[in-house]
Amino acid sequence: MTKTFTVTSGPELRCKSWRAEALLRLLENVLAVGEDPDNLVVYAALGRAARDWPSHDAIVETLKTMEEDETLVVQSGKPIGVMKTHKQAPICVMANCNMVGQWAKAENFYEWEKENLICWGGLTAGDWQYIGSQGVIQGTYEIFCRIAERHFDSDLHGRFILTAGLGGMGGAQPLAGRMANAATLCIEIDPERIKKRMEIGFLEVEAKDLDEALDMIQKAMAEKKPISVGLCGNAAEIYPEILARDIIPDIVTDQTSAHDLVYGYIPHTRSLEEARSLREDHKDILMKEGQASIVNHVTAMLGFQERGSVVFDNGNLIRTHAKNGGVEDAFNIPVFTEAFLRPLFCRAIGPYRWIALSNDPEDIRKIDDYLLERFPDNKIVTNWIALARENVPFEGLPARIAWLGHGERTDLALAVNDMVKSGHLSGPVAFTRDHLDAGGMAHPNIMTENMRDGSDAIADWPLLNAMMSCSSMADLVAIHSGGGGYSGYMTSAGITVVADGSDEAAERLQHSITNDTSLGVMRYADAGYEEATDEVAKKGIRHIAL
Ligand code: NAD
Repeated sequence: MTKTFTVTSGPELRCKSWRAEALLRLLENVLAVGEDPDNLVVYAALGRAARDWPSHDAIVETLKTMEEDETLVVQSGKPIGVMKTHKQAPICVMANCNMVGQWAKAENFYEWEKENLICWGGLTAGDWQYIGSQGVIQGTYEIFCRIAERHFDSDLHGRFILTAGLGGMGGAQPLAGRMANAATLCIEIDPERIKKRMEIGFLEVEAKDLDEALDMIQKAMAEKKPISVGLCGNAAEIYPEILARDIIPDIVTDQTSAHDLVYGYIPHTRSLEEARSLREDHKDILMKEGQASIVNHVTAMLGFQERGSVVFDNGNLIRTHAKNGGVEDAFNIPVFTEAFLRPLFCRAIGPYRWIALSNDPEDIRKIDDYLLERFPDNKIVTNWIALARENVPFEGLPARIAWLGHGERTDLALAVNDMVKSGHLSGPVAFTRDHLDAGGMAHPNIMTENMRDGSDAIADWPLLNAMMSCSSMADLVAIHSGGGGYSGYMTSAGITVVADGSDEAAERLQHSITNDTSLGVMRYADAGYEEATDEVAKKGIRHIAL
């Protein structure tokens, strides 16, 4: 029997508190908007919402029956037990996919996953915080805007963005490119993904072949009209082909699931079906051919860079695999975080999200109104909210993302809690953020590459973040490390806090959200970034500078 994946609406509680009900709705939501919910996969090839279906069902049952002064403990997507704590302790704590240093390798992960000992939670899949492709969209849009400011007089009209991958995260690229007014071509090997992004309105048109795709792009460039075009094909073949035709895009990146050579990236030597059939028993073939394919892919990206394109790594380890495959200068391509976003992270400005648990889109619109009124001088926010309202369709539970910083996030959460209390909103709202945030992540090839003090690979920060979030009464706290191709490459922490309109919720929001961003600013101040020390001084953050 095929399962159906829907989200729950309205005021009826199936659990004994809104805090548990919120987590249950968020779990349902990540599956409803996920890429392959039948296999519990939310995004990034293997990022799962739970270890397996029995684990999922036991989590659901526990959330329904547990008391508010108890805490559910989850280990790599499997519920381990319920413990008596107290009403201000998290409802759920999780540790997902954390392997001991020398053992944290893709090969071990695949083996242990097969034995059902471990599962990878991605960043926001295993802790039920994913909100569909919209979750990454402002980040992608901000990157395009920063590139526009730096290289194109703040205007991407008539500019060509070449990228690949239309999956759970990459699917945001065509819409972000369109919102930034560019002509965006996205190469994707799986026709179903192209179809899905068109159905939800993130991608406008599909071209039948490269000639047609380039014609559409060049016509839109000449008319200075934004367009997003999808093309079914392998990026490792099509990037070199575009370069060989001497067509040089203005901006080049990639968001295929290059991090995972077995379950993610499709080598150009195999069809999609062939690659899938090799996954169980011939991982070595896929790893070898995937790496060779990425060598072609990144060599073409470097070729574009040499010819003047602005090229950047969009957080998928593609440079790492290329370098391992012999492309010595792969790291000449900068990573997006260091190149464009670090000054924002220094002030703990990052991808903050809120989700209307009522399933009522009006709640999100009312929160938009509050933000526009409360922060009229914050152009990143006002510009974004106006654009998002018009262009970003809701997927699953209505949700919004905005890059807010220290103080602003707490302000919004408390105001929303008041709106829930007064009945202005039709139900509670969950606040969360991406793990890729100031205090939440150590990821030396993505988030923390080239830190000023050399602390790229030190994972104390996300662990401190999780401990502080528990001490600060967040409703869900998770520690994640990389699985699949990310094994051994990262550790991160995530939090969710529920604004249910109660005074206790106000206390939880006040402490957990403020302390989350405080630690983020301290992390960058500690690494010697002036923007962070400035924020410490301006906002009265009690950083101990030694
Ligand atoms: P996904 O697995 O949902 O989608 C990846 C897509 O790439 C799939 O649709 C797949 O068919 C396609 N693909 C694979 N090989 C291809 C090839 N050779 N040519 C063309 N298409 C190919 O993954 P996702 O959630 O979209 O994430 C993509 C990558 O971005 C992952 O590595 C992920 O970890 C990373 N990521 C980055 C950020 C960020 O903030 N920049 C955030 C989340 C994820």
